[in-house]
Amino acid sequence: MRNIDHLYIDGAFVKPHGSERLPLVNPATEEVLGHVVLADKEDARRAIAAARNALPAFSRTTKAQRVAILERLHAAVIARAEPLRDATIQEYGGPVSRASWVSQYAAQAFLDAARTLQAYEFERRVGSATVVMEPVGVSVLITPWNSSAGSICSKLAMAIAAGCTTVIKPSEMSALQTQIVAEAFHEADVPAGVINIVNGRGDVVGTELSTNPDVARISFTGSTGTGKIIARQALDTMKRVSLALGGKSPTILLDDADFEKAVPAALNIAFQNNGQACIAGSRLLVPRGRLTQVVELAQAAVSSMKVGDPADPATTIGPMANRTQFDRVQGYIRRGLEQGATLVAGGPGRPRGFDRGYFVEPTVFANVGNDMAIAQEEIFGPVLCIVTYRDEDEAVAIANDSAFGLHAYVFSSDVLRAQAVARRLEVGRVAINGMRHDPLAPFGGYKQSGVGREFGPFGLESFLEAKTIMAA
Ligand code: ADP
Repeated sequence: MRNIDHLYIDGAFVKPHGSERLPLVNPATEEVLGHVVLADKEDARRAIAAARNALPAFSRTTKAQRVAILERLHAAVIARAEPLRDATIQEYGGPVSRASWVSQYAAQAFLDAARTLQAYEFERRVGSATVVMEPVGVSVLITPWNSSAGSICSKLAMAIAAGCTTVIKPSEMSALQTQIVAEAFHEADVPAGVINIVNGRGDVVGTELSTNPDVARISFTGSTGTGKIIARQALDTMKRVSLALGGKSPTILLDDADFEKAVPAALNIAFQNNGQACIAGSRLLVPRGRLTQVVELAQAAVSSMKVGDPADPATTIGPMANRTQFDRVQGYIRRGLEQGATLVAGGPGRPRGFDRGYFVEPTVFANVGNDMAIAQEEIFGPVLCIVTYRDEDEAVAIANDSAFGLHAYVFSSDVLRAQAVARRLEVGRVAINGMRHDPLAPFGGYKQSGVGREFGPFGLESFLEAKTIMAA
């Protein structure tokens, strides 16, 4: 049994004032792994005060000093790659290959930020003025359970690069992963108060953090509903808010794509991270005349996927992260059936052979109308909707017929044609012929997928304010 009963405030592990104990549940077995003691509003205020006290000195550090801190943070996190991977498997149900990648990704964020910082000019001439980019101030970083260490580290890296001090509020359901990164940060010898971490409920600690006047900036990743609450709460004190929210990303198979390769790739894009990914390609748009072929290829791809113990290297899909998620996914599978979509793989209930754990069947629906709930709402599980289109114009129209606009994927044998389609899509990122990631390129959404951009120079500027200075 693990008992996480400390917060990280002002450079030390401290007992929380809050006393609520939340059980941590292994989603593959439904067994209680341990407990986390949650912070309350008073703890949140203490963390903000520490960040505020550390700000004057930290905001004046040099580029070289901050690059050195980022390099130490990288080394400290990478040194814990194994325990971080194991916690991700145990606490979240991330399959081992994904969980290993996440540890590397989390650590790498610090080096990417260091590179961005080194190349960035904090002062420039604009017209007759000197424009100085200054740290925005105390920054609150609120992160979700589906990519806990990765979100914490990528947000923290940028805040530090900018010279901001931070209060991190991770998901209360990721306490084991949080504890490991907190220990890494502590070891990295960062000035006290620059990094503060409070486990706590969103409606308690999160509310204090998003309303407290000493907080200048909020960087949030999570659901669209919660993002809207935070944006409203932050408005009164005009915090700078960036929101990385949900998606219903289209994968467009153009008629000249290599379907034998593209369909299995599209399934992997849809079911990445157990389907619990904001960038999951959860709508597959295919030419009408090719539906039968696509369905056959999709069925073959699903039957080769292994659902099960996330610690088993052969597993491709682990359990849903918690009971709420399991029920949510089951609800959407039932709704798809009620609304008349055709089930071509998977379906309701646990997969055969499982009588416990939050495992769901990887599920594919065909004959989905883009107006159905399963095509419009974010399910956040391994459920793929196949929607057919008549021609390229209609494919683009269906792709854009969404409240979301985070990501899209286009498959074609003609990259120029795919790029032309990409330019017509109302989304923040488009990947052509597979899953791609560039850690320096901006990441964020159009429409209800969010506000602002993370990573690279765009991400760095989101933690800066521009000051214009003009001389007579
Ligand atoms: P989920 O509901 O799937 O856990 P959320 O978007 O609600 O996803 O959670 C993302 C993060 O936002 C978590 O750290 C959560 O505690 C936090 N959060 C939830 N509600 C609020 C709120 N009202 N104010 C601030 N943060 C919140």
